[in-house]
Amino acid sequence: MPEKDYYQILGVDRHATQEEIKKAYRRLARQYHPDANPDNKEEAAARFREITEAYAVLSDPEKRAQYDRYGRVGSEGQGMGFDFRQADFEEIFRDLGFGFGDLFETLFGARRPRRGPRRGADLEVELELSFREAVFGAEKEVLVPRTEICPDCQGSGCQPGTRPETCPACGGTGHVSYARTTPFGQFIQTRTCECCGGKGEYIPHPCSTCRGTGRVKRRRRVRVHIPAGVEEGMRLRLRGEGEAGERGGPPGDLYVFLRVKPDPVFRRQGQDLYCQIPISFPQAALGAEVEVPILEGPDRETKTKLCIPPGTQPGERLRVKGKGVPTPYGRGDLWVEVKLVVPTRLTEKQRELLQELARLSGEEVKAGEKSFFERVKDAWR
Ligand SMILES: [Zn+2]
Ligand SMILES: [Zn+2]
Repeated sequence: MPEKDYYQILGVDRHATQEEIKKAYRRLARQYHPDANPDNKEEAAARFREITEAYAVLSDPEKRAQYDRYGRVGSEGQGMGFDFRQADFEEIFRDLGFGFGDLFETLFGARRPRRGPRRGADLEVELELSFREAVFGAEKEVLVPRTEICPDCQGSGCQPGTRPETCPACGGTGHVSYARTTPFGQFIQTRTCECCGGKGEYIPHPCSTCRGTGRVKRRRRVRVHIPAGVEEGMRLRLRGEGEAGERGGPPGDLYVFLRVKPDPVFRRQGQDLYCQIPISFPQAALGAEVEVPILEGPDRETKTKLCIPPGTQPGERLRVKGKGVPTPYGRGDLWVEVKLVVPTRLTEKQRELLQELARLSGEEVKAGEKSFFERVKDAWR
């Protein structure tokens, strides 16, 4: 019987393909990553350790075969008996958008191999704009929680004026060798140095700001220049505003996803704006000059006079040239849709004139009929 059922832990069956195992792990890792469970960090971390251990074994065909056969991996006294650096965690975590860097050290005490500079992760934030800000552009700010290089030690982790020192336990190599006697003879094995965690050096006087990590969490206000004419769903890229890089690597980028709130007056289609204005039957029939709202800036609304030609039909669209969305090639147009409004109350005189009009046009109307409310009013008089 296996000590731990790795298949059950990942929720896959014993014949699962590598792809299925990877998929199961990705799903669980997203669910139990400590960063995704701020209220329940301890429990999530424990669960995360478990699924990661299971994945480290089952994703490696050789270890999986060993596990299938013996129900365990590695030999006694060898810790967990597998190595996290062999699995493709880094790729998985980059895809999931979670931190990877310090996670494994914190959770497993395992040290990834020392490597060169690494670019910081990209970050994403959402930014809601008013309709008018999207049309005319704006200067905005977003609040970005991110990891930055510690400003006090410039990332070294050392208190100013001090330096890391070579680990005395491993002499700077990061690992120690020891002899192991088995029934088959003596073997030399190596393991990660416990004193320095594999770094080969230690920090005798850690920086008090970052506690020696060289990195700090900050909620940073980042200015975002919104160009005129942006639309819902667009993505702006801010170079170098993502997570800090590691070991001198450049920072990642920040992607700002734009959401645009609707406007009470205007709609938009590409470079053109649309609005409605109410006009009366006489205005439509005889023509008129009316005022229509015009957008001249994110918080500047003016009016312009628009000529309604005689005989304008309900729903007809009239163009106000060059009052649409600004683009590098000039502004789009404003389309004013004519909405015919029928009066609900009429004075005696108005009713008489309308009846006269109907009579002249040979139309039949309900002669002299008063509205329900007017009849009620009359009854009370
Ligand atoms: Zn520091
Ligand atoms: Zn050491």
